[in-house]
Amino acid sequence: MDVLLSRDEIATAVARIGQQITKDYAGQSILLLGVLKGACMFLSDLARKIELNATFDFIAVRSYGAQKESGGEVQLIKDVTTPLHGQHIILVEDILDTGLTLTFLKKTLMAHQPKSLKIAALLDKPSRRKADIQADYVGFQIPDKFVVGYGLDHAERFRNLPDICVLNEGE
Ligand code: 5GP
Repeated sequence: MDVLLSRDEIATAVARIGQQITKDYAGQSILLLGVLKGACMFLSDLARKIELNATFDFIAVRSYGAQKESGGEVQLIKDVTTPLHGQHIILVEDILDTGLTLTFLKKTLMAHQPKSLKIAALLDKPSRRKADIQADYVGFQIPDKFVVGYGLDHAERFRNLPDICVLNEGE
């Protein structure tokens, strides 16, 4: 597989986002809310680059299955376990593609009346967007290619690759 983003490039981008968040929320506590399973690596590396009081929680949605195309429908399959009311939430997502997942999650989470809600997405594929949504913190804008590694899967495989690679047809 071809490497699109190396582990070093990823680490540099994650550190940059961590510094920015540290600056933007200086003196405040934040809740890092990871979207399972894809964001697990990003959240754990990002959290260690944030110098603030931070707590974690996780949600899970179903959007892509074994196929590479989104069904267009998003379903919450694991909800948060901590109260969100009055919290500064940073929703941590692996990739912003059509935007349907994050649009659904934003709406769902805003119903809990957090103090604020921002989105950190490691990857952004702007050319694929169907919903009017942007991330507040982005690691990389990437072309319309299906990528795996660093948490991202294809049919549950490849999440443990340390680099982000392009999955070619037939692989
Ligand atoms: P969206 O709702 O924005 O279309 O899709 C978001 C979700 O689709 C991501 O959290 C991720 O699970 C999946 N996804 C979108 N593009 C890719 C990709 O290139 N590779 C992988 N592995 N998953 C993707």
